Amino acid sequence: MRMNLAQITKLINLPPTAIALLERPEKEITLAINIRVNENKLVQTTAYVCLYNTVRGPAKGGIRFHPHVDLLETRKLAELMVWKTALVGIPFGGGKTGVAIDPHDFTRTEKTIVMKELVHLIRHELMSGDYIPAPDMGTDAHDMATIFGETHIQECVTGKPPRVGGLPGREEATGRGVATVTKLLSGRCNLVPGKTTVAIQGFGNVGSWTAHFLHSMGYKVVAINDITGACYNPNGLNIPELKKSFTTNGNSLASAPNCNNIPRDEVLELPVDILIPAAAGGVITAKNAPKIKAKFIVEAANAPITDEAENILQGRKITIMPDILANAGGVIASYVEWRKARSGSLTPREETYSVIDTAIGGSFDEVVQIAEELKTTYRTAAEIKAVREVVATMYDRGWL
Ligand code: NAD
Repeated sequence: MRMNLAQITKLINLPPTAIALLERPEKEITLAINIRVNENKLVQTTAYVCLYNTVRGPAKGGIRFHPHVDLLETRKLAELMVWKTALVGIPFGGGKTGVAIDPHDFTRTEKTIVMKELVHLIRHELMSGDYIPAPDMGTDAHDMATIFGETHIQECVTGKPPRVGGLPGREEATGRGVATVTKLLSGRCNLVPGKTTVAIQGFGNVGSWTAHFLHSMGYKVVAINDITGACYNPNGLNIPELKKSFTTNGNSLASAPNCNNIPRDEVLELPVDILIPAAAGGVITAKNAPKIKAKFIVEAANAPITDEAENILQGRKITIMPDILANAGGVIASYVEWRKARSGSLTPREETYSVIDTAIGGSFDEVVQIAEELKTTYRTAAEIKAVREVVATMYDRGWL
């Protein structure tokens, strides 16, 4: 979902010149990828790169490898990064890259060749520091190490493995932030962790680490799914055991013991207190929104709820903690990694956790305060705080 600036202007004053700047991206590139990855496999596809707005700093945002990416989705995700970085007060703008391939069709080596080709094609944006990528769906720390290997500039990319200049704690940072927000939200609503049930869609980087942290905080994570299957235990899943069997079973939930006991998509509609979509965008739609039983949704994925579904959920008084706050832990840690790369300092894992918890905690309080003052949703409140920040910077820089 793109920010509804018309709706925001009903609540706060925004200069029309700022709206004009915010309604369109600064730079978009569509690239033809044509690369032979092995003797028998020629990859011909498209990559989309969007640097949406850089008034607050270089465009920050992940690289997504997914067969269905397109320019519109990439633009929407790049814009989201503008609001996310502004909301949590880190000096970055927003960007995103989408490459239309299914990473599951590639070996590690083949994927590395595709990533090297992408670096070749966006070399200017990377080397100038205008765009700083990180992992997103379908890419991981290994891919970020490939980017570093091609540029030899540590601050060109974040989400690298700690041994190649990455940050201890970056891998789990997004899940850590999601768990922190969930804890703050449930605390506000007097939900006790041991009695609070959670269902999570997705068991990749974000979903699995969210499950890990919530489990260790005492929440009852009762259901998890991924593209291959689902696990449900109303008494709570044993997350450490599930994680272990997941990795030994070829990174798939389908073959984990005692799993696959419900249809995959039922996870979204289970009778739980908190639902956490942590997979693809647009998964909560007008069709399934009326069937959702959770009273709270924490958006770990980017844009998991369609506009139509949002209206239905609001009508049903379901509280939504928006993506730009809930999943900001990753970009906060990315900022720490970038700062570390520029200074050459070393950052222990505990410090990463503490920066995430402080930034998310402070933003959470401000969002709650704005929501109460303006009698609006947490999403609109978060957007208001972010827009105010971006527009104020536009004034600082003489853009307005
Ligand atoms: P990932 O590729 O590591 O994992 C994606 C997971 O979703 C996998 O378990 C996959 O099997 C599952 N999945 C895909 N389609 C599904 C479906 N229809 N039903 C159930 N499961 C499905 O990706 P990730 O990095 O964990 O990202 C997940 C989401 O979080 C994305 O929306 C991404 O934009 C967002 N996000 C990621 C980060 C990060 O640091 N990685 C930061 C902020 C936001």
